[in-house]
Amino acid sequence: MQICVNFTEKLTMSLELAEIMQAIEEVAPISLQENYDNSGLIVGNSKMQISSALLSLDCTPEVVLEAIDKGCNLVISHHPIVFSGLKRFNGNTYVDRAIQLAIKHDVALYACHTNLDSVLHQGVNHKIASRLALIPQRVLSPQKNTLLKLSVTVPTEYKMAVENAIFKAGAGQIGNYKDCGFSWSGVGSYTPQTGANPFEGSVDEPSRVEEQKFEVVFPFYLKRQVLDAMFYAHPYEEVAYELVALENEVLSVGSGLICQFREPMSQPEFLAHLKKSMDLETFKYTRSDKITIHRVAICGGSGAFLISKAKQEKCDAYITSDVKYHEYFDAENDMLLCDIGHFESEKYTVSIFAEILSKKFPNFATIFAHTNTNPVQYYK
Ligand SMILES: [Zn+2]
Repeated sequence: MQICVNFTEKLTMSLELAEIMQAIEEVAPISLQENYDNSGLIVGNSKMQISSALLSLDCTPEVVLEAIDKGCNLVISHHPIVFSGLKRFNGNTYVDRAIQLAIKHDVALYACHTNLDSVLHQGVNHKIASRLALIPQRVLSPQKNTLLKLSVTVPTEYKMAVENAIFKAGAGQIGNYKDCGFSWSGVGSYTPQTGANPFEGSVDEPSRVEEQKFEVVFPFYLKRQVLDAMFYAHPYEEVAYELVALENEVLSVGSGLICQFREPMSQPEFLAHLKKSMDLETFKYTRSDKITIHRVAICGGSGAFLISKAKQEKCDAYITSDVKYHEYFDAENDMLLCDIGHFESEKYTVSIFAEILSKKFPNFATIFAHTNTNPVQYYK
């Protein structure tokens, strides 16, 4: 898997670090990260010019040394090197040594972790699904309290402009449908007071205007850009709008992924397919009464917390890692539970970063790290 790609003499474009972060966070918004996480820029300055980026699942001192050696002044990793506050910088821990090396050699460290786990499209689980030729269906455990509803009144002749601006900012996506909204006509009333500069009407004169009310939903992390787009396109100096938090679940944001094979396969076929597709030396799995495997749940990294959810969703198999002994019993022989190893489940994550960056910046060099960071060895 340690392949060096996307690095030829033609790839000499340098980028401001902020542009790189923005490209990644358009796919995996930083506000989707879990509370315990530390995704984002850990070392460096967003105004730095980046010549090339080294991509790695983990950030360790060896990875930072590899970056220095290859002339990369940015390491993009899935796992953040720092999760909580550091008090001493004396070289006693690998975390501290990696940070010191990075600062000393002007290498920026950036991580995109649970925010990349949580997105359906181009996320960690999507990558596993594509390797297994599984068709993604929806998130296994959707994140709650992520949706907002915006209602805004707008003079009829400006309705299309405001609606288009709001859609363009990303609002109105429901499942596989975009530009979803609802509007109806009515009459708005107002009386401008001293100091007002009304679009229509005059100070101290009551106005009644033909307006439309437009409603749309969007995830909370788009709030700033949707509101900015609305204010920019709306003709009124005081825009009448409401923003309401919804309890509806968003099926494209959350933990784990439910997928399906085009054709069911037998249990032995599935096990062999999993080993080959993920290039596994070995893996652990439970006994299961399932003869055929069709519906499969995936959660890259530590996903034991979703075993019961995958069972509830009647999945024939669940692929994850870091399952403890007693948790294997929770599969109840009713679902094939496969623990393929944490590193192994996420080792292809780096190619997501490469795909995002090469698509947006075709002449920018990204290099897959050769350093094998897996701390777990298998004795054969
Ligand atoms: Zn992980």
